[in-house]
Amino acid sequence: MILDIHSHIGEDVVFGCSQSEGDLLNVNQRHGITGGIVQPFIGRPYPELTRKEHDRICRFCRKHQNYWGMASINPHFKREDYAAEADRCIKELSFVALKLTPVGHAVDPESEDGMFVFENARRLQVPVMVHTGYGIPFSDPAKLRKAARLYPEVRMIIAHLGSGIFASQAIQLAQEFSQVYLETSGCGIGETMAALSALDGKKVMFSSDSVLQVGVELEKYRTILEKYPKWKEDVLWRTAEKVFRIRLG
Ligand SMILES: [Zn+2]
Repeated sequence: MILDIHSHIGEDVVFGCSQSEGDLLNVNQRHGITGGIVQPFIGRPYPELTRKEHDRICRFCRKHQNYWGMASINPHFKREDYAAEADRCIKELSFVALKLTPVGHAVDPESEDGMFVFENARRLQVPVMVHTGYGIPFSDPAKLRKAARLYPEVRMIIAHLGSGIFASQAIQLAQEFSQVYLETSGCGIGETMAALSALDGKKVMFSSDSVLQVGVELEKYRTILEKYPKWKEDVLWRTAEKVFRIRLG
């Protein structure tokens, strides 16, 4: 079984890219991916458009077994708008996590609006995935220390392992805080191996981020897991089941 914890459906106005439901299903079927956690891209920052994107992902997840939604809401929306959409996604649409993209949402994770994401995650008892790497200084994993310290009960997934260049900061947080986990999409095999070694294969999850990257990411892990087969189940699905509180069917 392979669970991809970082996939997108929709259009992105920050990075200028898009992926459809068909793109995702095709590539996952071709590569033997069992399912995954699906989030929107960064769309235009309006609550009504955000709701539409989440509805689209909800339809996809209800139609296809082993797919779950992750909500991505601009933290600069009015507090009541952010909270209402977070509530709706988790309680009505059965989404399993929140996403914060410091570079796309123009949010400093240490700011009040950044903290508000974790406040909602605590209230709704779901994990937060945070983009790291591209988009310094907001995307420096060191910016997540404050949230890790203030919200020990909120599971946090550091996405992209700091895009490799900030891998050490991300690994240190995962070693220091029991609720902090890592995903390594877009990173080199060296940094991925460093994260797995530092955590003995625990707290690191497989992910692709892009349909273009699924094959590369799988190959990266194949190379590592051939040498360290004991890490395989945790990395490919078991840790994700625990972090997102889901059960693969
Ligand atoms: Zn992404």
